[in-house]
Amino acid sequence: MPAFDTLQMGITTRCNLLCAHCPREPADCFEHLPLELFKQRLARFEAARFGTLLVSDFGEPTMVPGFLSYLRHARRQGWRAVEFVTNASCTDRALWEAVVREELAARIMISLEAATPAQYRAFRGQPWETFARTVALITALKGRHAPGAAPEIRLNAVCLVDTLHELEPLIRFTAEVGADALSLVHLNPTARCSRDDWRGGPDHHLDGLPRDRLLEAFAHALALARDLGVDVSLPEPMPELGEAAPWVPPPAAAPDGIRCTQPFLWVQVHAGGAVYPCCQMSARWSVGNLDEADFEQLWRGPRYSRLLDGLMPGGEPLEVCRQCNILAGRYF
Ligand code: SF4
Repeated sequence: MPAFDTLQMGITTRCNLLCAHCPREPADCFEHLPLELFKQRLARFEAARFGTLLVSDFGEPTMVPGFLSYLRHARRQGWRAVEFVTNASCTDRALWEAVVREELAARIMISLEAATPAQYRAFRGQPWETFARTVALITALKGRHAPGAAPEIRLNAVCLVDTLHELEPLIRFTAEVGADALSLVHLNPTARCSRDDWRGGPDHHLDGLPRDRLLEAFAHALALARDLGVDVSLPEPMPELGEAAPWVPPPAAAPDGIRCTQPFLWVQVHAGGAVYPCCQMSARWSVGNLDEADFEQLWRGPRYSRLLDGLMPGGEPLEVCRQCNILAGRYF
């Protein structure tokens, strides 16, 4: 089995927001993963085989009763690099103080799409002021902690057609609030949703815009980021702007020529126990369930094989892979 980069384990499918581009369906079943079951699931994986544990899925993890206990348990079990994603709607100062003081997370990723109050509220439904105050609290707590042990605070912004004009406010907010970095990422084109008001479909992906318009917007964003000293990453290589894709050595276990190495880097486990070989496929190709088999059995099973065969030269990729940003040359 490979030495994976990340184990992603969801602990809830509940969220207090319903963002405009989120593919959650109102009819979805929403639940928390009980702490005891989290412990059992985590025990099925060797911490030494993974670089990072990402305690997140579509839900908002800070809503889970006893959320800190999940992080503490992971640390006790030897998971050194624990991360989570949050919408920063939790205003419980004690929770954020504990995360930073007890060094429960190596990285906190904070999601947003816009940094102007009206646009932010249009996407998220919550007031911008609440969000901005919480992010400022987290960065201030981090600033008071020992530098080497403080969590990285990374803002993660999905870029859509409707929010391309938000690049500048996003960069200015990252600088003002003192976050460590801003990731600009593409909308995930593998997501599906039946909501009438959903703004996450193909029409909203930046691929729908002329290339020169994209380059103009990102060139301006990069120049501003340089001026303000913001560490910003783009959603795809832009060699026209001097931002070519860096060469990254492929994982040792990945066969030569495979078109996507994510299945050798990432394992995602949903709250219900279903296992997915990456987080980009919107839970559309489960390779099995931990209630029925060990991960090693799943890794050697027919569902992983079908996925990997399809990614080899001459293979027929799964439909979800054909729709994925990765095969289109975008970043993960
Ligand atoms: S191509 Fe996309 S969906 Fe397919 S395995 Fe790679 S990251 Fe996942």
